[in-house]
Amino acid sequence: MITVLRRLRPIPALLLGVLALNGCPVNPATGERQLILISESQEIAMGLEVSQQVEATMGLYDDPELQRYVSGIGETLAAQSEKPNLPWSFKVVDDDLVNAFALPGGYIFVTRGILAYFNSEAELAGVLGHEIGHVTARHSAEQLSRAQVAQIGLVAGSVFVPEFSPYADLAGTGLGLLFLKFGRDDERQSDDLGFRYMTRAGYDPTEMVEVFDMLGRVSEASGGNGIPSWLSTHPDPGERRERMERALAEAGAAGVGRVARDDYMRRIDGLVFGENPRKGFFRGQDFLHPDLQFQLRFPPDWPTQNTAQAVVGVSPGKDAIIQLSIGQGATSDEAANHFLSQSGINVGERRREPVNGLPATWATFGARTSDGTDLRGVVVFIDYNNLTYQILGYTVANKMNTYTTTFRASLGSFNRLTDKAALGVQPKRLDLVTIDRSMTLEEFARVHPSTVPLATLELINGVQQGASIPRGTLVKRVVGEDPPK
Ligand SMILES: [Zn+2]
Repeated sequence: MITVLRRLRPIPALLLGVLALNGCPVNPATGERQLILISESQEIAMGLEVSQQVEATMGLYDDPELQRYVSGIGETLAAQSEKPNLPWSFKVVDDDLVNAFALPGGYIFVTRGILAYFNSEAELAGVLGHEIGHVTARHSAEQLSRAQVAQIGLVAGSVFVPEFSPYADLAGTGLGLLFLKFGRDDERQSDDLGFRYMTRAGYDPTEMVEVFDMLGRVSEASGGNGIPSWLSTHPDPGERRERMERALAEAGAAGVGRVARDDYMRRIDGLVFGENPRKGFFRGQDFLHPDLQFQLRFPPDWPTQNTAQAVVGVSPGKDAIIQLSIGQGATSDEAANHFLSQSGINVGERRREPVNGLPATWATFGARTSDGTDLRGVVVFIDYNNLTYQILGYTVANKMNTYTTTFRASLGSFNRLTDKAALGVQPKRLDLVTIDRSMTLEEFARVHPSTVPLATLELINGVQQGASIPRGTLVKRVVGEDPPK
């Protein structure tokens, strides 16, 4: 669902290698003594590096006004924290998952996916406050110092395809950080800190309870499949809701402060909803990319996936992979040089041969994985519209003969996209409607039709089935068609 496919760079060795022991200072946010192996300036440098990788791979959501709005709320909350002077940044990434995450040093991201599910500015503030809490309590930095030893090993070693998983090498990259799990205690602490910051900033903390309800429902609806990392790594939303309600009762803060429901709803009118097909979608086994105007066909019956780093097809027997990504180099020759010079790669035959009239470099290669498995594969680098595409097919060495024809057919199917319907495809978007009489969501869906199921409308509006919505309420619907089949 996300564009291009740029391979992530590993965290520079200097950030990982030089560890200074800073004693065990008391953290001003939590009041606890904390053993962290990195200094605050290292933390900031690391966060900056990884945040640039996040932006390069996920892409920022293209709406400067919405970016400024989210950033403004984040800045207001951060000013209330114990570390107002960190280089705080708050950005919306172009991803449809319900997710939010914090990098060391104050680099905080929310997805456009989660924005679609909030129903007030205070809900957004609650989640930003929570993420600020991970930074001020230095959870990310703590996790990072624990993960460093493992990362050094991965970065130093050959980083080709260590396992038969397209994600295996994520652990060796900055993005691996996003998958670090915070413990339950860290989450509770961030909930408490988020509560503190949003209350200080004048928001009604009751709204955070709504967020936990929403996360619970989204988690349930996803049925355990494709649960965003933010949910899977966080403790049970029901339990957190109860803790938050107790805190509210103690503070006597319920119902006091800014909610800003309508302000928020107007900001997300027109927000892209769900996967954005302009950034690539599958029509059968054809991967079509309207923005980049190319297409590629994967072998029949191969399950496929469009991820942030690559578009991947895996053979039904799970013993072969075809992977499309962006090559590292300004030309196909440069990208081929870069790829084939990786340690552990043995180059077979290399030649220039166009693909559907586009300049291209082909090569065969062998490689050995970290666990000693011999792999063989074929790769092609193609120059097209100022980008270099890398398409890779590989399998275990003794299956190469079986797959050679399949690989060549798929790799050689890369072509310009000319289908008008595919080129003109548009994403679905939120459309905000003020209802002129009270009604249930079922009635709303009849009067103002959506192109998503009623269950999705219930989730994004935070409205239960059968509940009456008062006249004058701004209600979300979703407009726009699915991509042409
Ligand atoms: Zn958290």
